[in-house]
Amino acid sequence: MSRKPIIAGNWKMNLLQSDAKALFEGIKSYVKDLSAQELPTVVIAPTFTSLAAVNAEKCDCGCGCNKINIAAQNCHWEKSGAYTGEISVEMAEDAGCSYIIIGHSERRQYFSETDEMINKKAKAILAGGLIPIICCGETLEQREAGVTDSHIASQIKAALEGLSNEEISKSVIAYEPIWAIGTGKTCDSVEANRVIAMIRGVVAEVSSSEAADSIRILYGGSVNPASISEQMSMSDIDGALIGGASLKADSFNEIIANTMKVASLS
Ligand code: PEP
Repeated sequence: MSRKPIIAGNWKMNLLQSDAKALFEGIKSYVKDLSAQELPTVVIAPTFTSLAAVNAEKCDCGCGCNKINIAAQNCHWEKSGAYTGEISVEMAEDAGCSYIIIGHSERRQYFSETDEMINKKAKAILAGGLIPIICCGETLEQREAGVTDSHIASQIKAALEGLSNEEISKSVIAYEPIWAIGTGKTCDSVEANRVIAMIRGVVAEVSSSEAADSIRILYGGSVNPASISEQMSMSDIDGALIGGASLKADSFNEIIANTMKVASLS
């Protein structure tokens, strides 16, 4: 089964609106001459404060803007109410988002996000017609203790609990070993592929083999223009969630270009 690759940039808490618009312009001017067929699904996740500004740069003029999807970095599962500092799925959509990242390790670590909360968010995002990018990953201690697979399997089972096969098929998972995020240490591609294949097996177990075949599972953790070719040549890696290297148009565009080279060979 051929799955369209996804190249997603997580801008985290970086860039003021003017910088975010400039970065968006830099990506837009690169993708404008490429066909939607040859391009991976390109996603960028600006800060909440830059979502509307970046979305305002989108038009329908064929300049490339419609080839870039916008993601929020988080959302709340409730539709509205007394949740200071949060935004709903509908608000993210209103600001131009079609994807929402949930369960990033930084949110789990610094904002005490639990598997149960991530599951509620996934349900709300899918009910709202958007696509969740569900992050999972192990700490170095868990890897060294040999519990990587059981830990990730339990994160995935909890996140997908109660979702239909159809909802699972259109969701996206990002496997991000925490020790590889922002450290410059990428996970060995064969090992990342093994874990991602294991995740696909868990998806088959909790839903169907069709859903496991269609769901796109990304690798994240210090991805850069040099590492992406090998990562994309792996059987189960369907793309990347990129932090640091997504903050410069040159490196993000090079990651897109190298992804296309590998995809066109397969
Ligand atoms: C991330 O934050 O999801 C990430 C993978 O960051 P980096 O690419 O900087 O490791």
